[in-house]
Amino acid sequence: MPSIPGLQARLSEKLRLALVYRLARELNAELSSAEVLRRMLHAAAEALGTPHASIVALRKRELLAAYALGGDNEADPRPVIERVLANGLAGFVLHNYRTVIVNDLTTNPLWMSLPDEPLSPQFGSALCVPMIHSGDVVGVITLSHPARSYFTADAVNLVTTLSEMGAAALSNTLLLEENRQARQRYSTLFDDVLVPILITDLDGNIQAVNRRACEFLAYEREELMYQNINAIHRLGTGPISGERFDHLTRGLEVRFQSSIWTRDGAECPVQVYARRVNDAVEGDYIQWIEHDLSSQVELEQLRRDLSAMIYHDMRGPLGNVYTSLNALQKLLADYPGASVRTFLEVAVRSERQVQRMADSLLDVQRLEEGNKLLNRNNTAINALIEHAIEQVRPVADDRHVRLRLGLGDELPLLYIDADMIERVMINLMDNAIKYSPDYGIVTISTASSGQEVLIRVKDTGPGIPREAQARIFEKFERVKHRHMPRGVGLGLAFCKLAVDAHAGRIWVKSDDQSGSTFTVALPVEAPATRELPLLGAAAQ
Ligand code: ADP
Repeated sequence: MPSIPGLQARLSEKLRLALVYRLARELNAELSSAEVLRRMLHAAAEALGTPHASIVALRKRELLAAYALGGDNEADPRPVIERVLANGLAGFVLHNYRTVIVNDLTTNPLWMSLPDEPLSPQFGSALCVPMIHSGDVVGVITLSHPARSYFTADAVNLVTTLSEMGAAALSNTLLLEENRQARQRYSTLFDDVLVPILITDLDGNIQAVNRRACEFLAYEREELMYQNINAIHRLGTGPISGERFDHLTRGLEVRFQSSIWTRDGAECPVQVYARRVNDAVEGDYIQWIEHDLSSQVELEQLRRDLSAMIYHDMRGPLGNVYTSLNALQKLLADYPGASVRTFLEVAVRSERQVQRMADSLLDVQRLEEGNKLLNRNNTAINALIEHAIEQVRPVADDRHVRLRLGLGDELPLLYIDADMIERVMINLMDNAIKYSPDYGIVTISTASSGQEVLIRVKDTGPGIPREAQARIFEKFERVKHRHMPRGVGLGLAFCKLAVDAHAGRIWVKSDDQSGSTFTVALPVEAPATRELPLLGAAAQ
């Protein structure tokens, strides 16, 4: 039945209230955004008796969804609505945030002439209302009627009320849907990611795990739930403790290496990244990412074993070279050509150097693996130093560097791996000579100080910048010196490991005025050591 002009004017207040109340109740139920739009559309068209009506939802002014009444039910209303939004009445309303009444569609240029479009009647009147929420247009509702001047002020008020309610409901449902989609995406990602991830509460109780974590730990998902993260990590007090926990609770990312126990009792090395996450939906939790390091560790072990084997096996042939060179030296002792003897000396010296390098590399590996010192003996340190000096003297002579000795009297014996400590001293002296200018002076001194013996190697070289002084004891750390010889940065790392293994200390004092002084402090060990001075004297 076609409505007659002015009908809405007679819509009783009671009817209007009933309608608004019904729609409010419907919109309050948990609906999808599509359902909110459809209910809005039907409610408005029914209340005003309009045969044509359309509603669009927008996000950032882009068309999100569109529904229409009065056109071809089968046809998708979007193409025509897109045109209207671009150039027609709905577009004008959208841009101006204003309700518009068109009393005569035939004369208003905003009503686009679309003769073949059943959705867009060619005559009558129309009402177009923006749906505004929090200052933003989230949709537009358009009603049209074949009669001219059909929409009264009352009708406008009613549609405005409905559109306000609809706008709020639409925004909320869109937000909810977006949230749901984001969570869906996150949960797919969480489960599919190829790294084991565990989620715990702040006490470490596991609340969620991804598929990879279950595979890695060989547990069913349910079995892991409510276990504690401490129980699956092999750490004395577990990750949820001490300073680490303190960092976590302060929101800092915590990284550490640990081992994880799988269900079948296997122990797997892992690199853990843990972070506290505080999100409005899930609340406060800790996210643990556990990188499986087993293949890395295996590879590293293989590399270590291989290099240890090489260093070890190098020593045999090197020993043969040394013995042969020695024999040659003896045979040629009376040989008239001095240069032959010099060549031989260089060869012997270089062989010794390579031998020391192989020994030190092997020691570095053993000490890094925490192996104990095996060849400790009571040793007279001064004799050791003198022997070491003889090894480096030819290099010093080549450079005209003077080696000055200041050995302390009556030093206690030291219970040390003499071969290792001699290589430490040779390394320090080698460096001192290497970094000294020609005609420089290297002073080597020993002294007793409390429960320690101090051995100092002082040079007149370029010095070491303060900020690099701690760093140079790490592997592969070098300081760039202009016009200075190059090395690999392993010598001091070996020295530190060796001295640490003896429970000693090593440090450097340096400035660019007076060169560098390296000091090694070795503890005078157990009383038994001091009770045997005669042994040391005999050794000297
Ligand atoms: P390398 O000498 O093979 O580079 P080291 O571990 O022996 O390795 O030394 C590490 C770095 O420390 C050197 O590269 C050098 O920069 C610095 N260094 C060591 N000894 C001295 C020294 N006596 N004088 C100046 N710099 C030194």
